[in-house]
Amino acid sequence: MTDAALPVPDARLRKALDECATIVGAANVVTSAERLADYADPFTPAPAAASFFASAAVLPDSVEQIREVLRVARAYRMPIWPVSTGRNFAYGGGAPRLSGSVVLDLKRMKRVLEVDETHAYALVEPGVTYFDLYAHLRERGAKLWIDPPAAGWGSVVGNTLERGFGYTPYGDHAAMQCGMEVVLANGDVVRTGMGGIEIGHTWQLFKPGFGPSYDAMFMQSNFGIVTKLGLWLMPQPSAYLLAHARFLREADLEAIVEILRPLKLDETIRNHAVIEGAVRHAAGLSSRSDWYDGQGPMPEAAIEAMIARLGIGRWNLHFGLYGEPELNDARYAIVSRAFSRVHGMSIEAKRYAGDEVPSGGEDRNLGGVPAMSAFRMLDWVGGSGAHVDFSPICPFTGRDAMRQYTMAKARMAEYGFDYYGGFTAGTRHLHHIVAAIFDRSRPGQVDAASDLLRVLMSDARAAGYGEYRAHLAYMDFAAAQYDFNEGALLRLSEQIKDALDPQGILAPGKSGIWPKAWRSARGYT
Ligand code: ADP
Repeated sequence: MTDAALPVPDARLRKALDECATIVGAANVVTSAERLADYADPFTPAPAAASFFASAAVLPDSVEQIREVLRVARAYRMPIWPVSTGRNFAYGGGAPRLSGSVVLDLKRMKRVLEVDETHAYALVEPGVTYFDLYAHLRERGAKLWIDPPAAGWGSVVGNTLERGFGYTPYGDHAAMQCGMEVVLANGDVVRTGMGGIEIGHTWQLFKPGFGPSYDAMFMQSNFGIVTKLGLWLMPQPSAYLLAHARFLREADLEAIVEILRPLKLDETIRNHAVIEGAVRHAAGLSSRSDWYDGQGPMPEAAIEAMIARLGIGRWNLHFGLYGEPELNDARYAIVSRAFSRVHGMSIEAKRYAGDEVPSGGEDRNLGGVPAMSAFRMLDWVGGSGAHVDFSPICPFTGRDAMRQYTMAKARMAEYGFDYYGGFTAGTRHLHHIVAAIFDRSRPGQVDAASDLLRVLMSDARAAGYGEYRAHLAYMDFAAAQYDFNEGALLRLSEQIKDALDPQGILAPGKSGIWPKAWRSARGYT
């Protein structure tokens, strides 16, 4: 790239980075191509010319250092892209939206600052991963669970800020967050909610505080750098039960969703139950080539054969029940009875003591134990497996679920992909998560995945649905779909952005929000 195309001309950038080196130490300023490769998006679905890259990375280890780096960034108008550990795979990894930005990698700030067993919460720094927090709690013998996302190596702060989710009753990570410390672009340090009281006792206990509440404003945004985050932890249950129900027919999806909704609304099932399609379930047990190695999507006959051989369902419902064994059994009887209305379904349960660890990866997640089961999916297609996700929010009705499923499946087949997806149950909505799995070493597949994502997003928007999260390549596209009153929501975000960050240094383009200085860089790749 030429200087003109970079956000900061090379000579100026070098001076700015020299100043950063005096703040964080030369070893913590990364400029070599070899080490910068860690910040490239490992699964980019964008053509090479449009890929997202960092010109450097700076790794501070304290709030003071962050404030100093921000001072340099303001002086040089150097855009910086904060990440906690940069493992936001399928959504861009550690790469910035605006190529040439400097990644501010917070992985060295990895202290678990507090665990309160009385009120069941923890306060963590950005570099703390789910594996770290789990190990910390076990070491101190705390009877508290974490709620891991599918890839346990990610950061608690990063995943929560992206509104990630897990599988236990504390699966809505954004909802279980309480209190933040944030460094603003001007260097000011703010504590939200009750943290506004200098020596307080309730920062992690009561989210709102007094007056306006800001925590949610720092999620999926570019309004500040989060340096501390409080999260509520689930008290270890005395026992838990993990259930797997199998359903035979594609059309059963409608009934499954209709039966599940009241059980979620009345809290018979409190965790994020998952309705998984056959291919996604099979990917945990086998490879695609075991069943089919032709071109295009797997034919129905191959899917049927795979289902029969593996003894799985066309749809597979996973849920967990947590608490006293008698209560779990009573709930299990109620749930089994409700689903027995679906012809041909079968259900089985495994019972665990509260401190017992299940053996399989996905079961581990439901048992509050971080794992890396998510990566198994990449072996499905072989080669250099990668994925990019389409993640529309779906109303909790059988009709909507069926509609989204049929739309996605047909489009995926058209572009040569299997429907690899499922629905994760909130209370009044479903997260419909669909992965386009492709082989990075085959450019044709990368292009097809990229085109497919755009088409899926347009289809969803035309039907009145929107996405909850988007890869860097589609952030502007996703934001533009929230178009009520000619995009009033994005106008509001950009007004706030300009007020908080007039130099436009913090994460330009994050979630489609561009500061005035870079607004011309908005674009759909
Ligand atoms: P993880 O490693 O948990 O997958 P990342 O560190 O990649 O998560 O963070 C995901 C995204 O969240 C980043 O791309 C960035 O936009 C945002 N983010 C992460 N950490 C922070 C932070 N401490 N402050 C502000 N934004 C953050």
